[in-house]
Amino acid sequence: MFRTVCLRLTLWYTLLFGLLSLGAFLLVYVHIANGLGRHTDDQLRATAREFIQTRKERGLAGLQNEFILEAAATGKERIFFRLLDQKGRQLAASDLSSWPNIAVTASLVPTDTDDRFSRIQLPGHRLPVRVLTTRLEDGSLLQTGLSLQENDQVLELYRETFSTAFLLIISLGGIGVYFIARRAMGGVKEVTEAAGRIAAGDLEQPISRGNRGEEIENLAAMFNIMQKRVADLIDELKAVVNNIAHDLRMPITRIRGVAEITLTRDSDLSQYREMAVTVIEESDQLVGQINTILELAEIDAGLKVMTLEKVNLIRLIQMAAELYQPVTEDKGIILNLQLPGESCFINGNLSALQRLLANLLDNAVKFTPTDGMISLKLVVENEHVLLSVADNGPGIPPEEQKRIFDRFYRGDASRSSLGSGLGLALVKSIVRAHDGTITVKSDGNNGSTFLIKLPVII
Ligand code: ADP
Repeated sequence: MFRTVCLRLTLWYTLLFGLLSLGAFLLVYVHIANGLGRHTDDQLRATAREFIQTRKERGLAGLQNEFILEAAATGKERIFFRLLDQKGRQLAASDLSSWPNIAVTASLVPTDTDDRFSRIQLPGHRLPVRVLTTRLEDGSLLQTGLSLQENDQVLELYRETFSTAFLLIISLGGIGVYFIARRAMGGVKEVTEAAGRIAAGDLEQPISRGNRGEEIENLAAMFNIMQKRVADLIDELKAVVNNIAHDLRMPITRIRGVAEITLTRDSDLSQYREMAVTVIEESDQLVGQINTILELAEIDAGLKVMTLEKVNLIRLIQMAAELYQPVTEDKGIILNLQLPGESCFINGNLSALQRLLANLLDNAVKFTPTDGMISLKLVVENEHVLLSVADNGPGIPPEEQKRIFDRFYRGDASRSSLGSGLGLALVKSIVRAHDGTITVKSDGNNGSTFLIKLPVII
């Protein structure tokens, strides 16, 4: 239990509250005690002055009388006065019944000054007594003593009040801090619970937004983004697995069919050879397809680290055009290049960009009829470069355009032709890995144009 942040915070803050209020109490206590002490001394000094005056004016008998009256007014157990001669014999005194045996010790007698304050503890008195001893002109000693009981009562009242207040501060402060800490930690608890739900397989419930403080709200928001990303990845994974199961079964069934027919028929060696060639071709295509799937998954998950270098796009396009020249010539297709006069460099991965162009050109050649035209165009626009691959094939119907970049998607018109439906998905992943975008333009009748936008090195 003591390992929870909530409880630790409560303990630390309560301790801090306690220490701070204790410090404040001590400060005020010392201040009050000093003030009371000063007040007592002033009172004793004023009384002594009055008695000196009385002695001057009314003699020893008058002083004795004044001692009695003054002590009775204040309380004879709280205050005493007496006058001693040089030898310490008592000349006059107030009622000393509550003050037995006040010895005239050296510590009480002023030496180099006219008066001296002392604090003495008398037998029979719980609290100390403050005594002012004043040496008069004739050498006699006037003593005025005041019990510190009243001061102590004030301080005791203060101590009692503080103890109650201290207990209140500690308990109410502790409870308050506990609730604040619990509320602050509430968001963390929700995130923990959400993580638990994810671990149990539920990816549907995001953490609700609230008013739990900016840090917690940010944590919740980031957690929801992460949860959405995990859910998307899992959906994608399911789709990929379904697609793989569906699309790889076909070539395997074909391979099995060829083998079965050859076996069940009374085949000669040449037919066995033919079967082996078909099996090898189909297997190669299958392996190629599996490699593309893996590559796609790696690029999309960010696992395939693409080393980027400065790539000359004009050179890249020229090389691709040279490579496709024989194929296009065979089909009577014109390959039209429109390249800018100035150089054009991007930060890219050369082999990935070559595959990107090859996939687009493969499709263009596949769909362009004899005597058609394929245009490769490059335009530099501020911080971007626009690469377009256009053909005058049958075009792509609008309803298919959204789906052609999906894995394994193949348009209706191309079902009969060779292909895996992975080419454009790979192109899109490569473009994305280069911080670019790809779009397709086609009215569904007259040719298609694939437009790629990539950031250029300025
Ligand atoms: P594949 O070419 O193996 O079928 P792709 O991913 O390369 O797979 O293309 C997906 C689909 O997009 C194709 O089946 C086709 O319907 C459509 N497509 C791609 N390029 C063109 C194009 N140049 N002209 C017409 N349709 C195209």
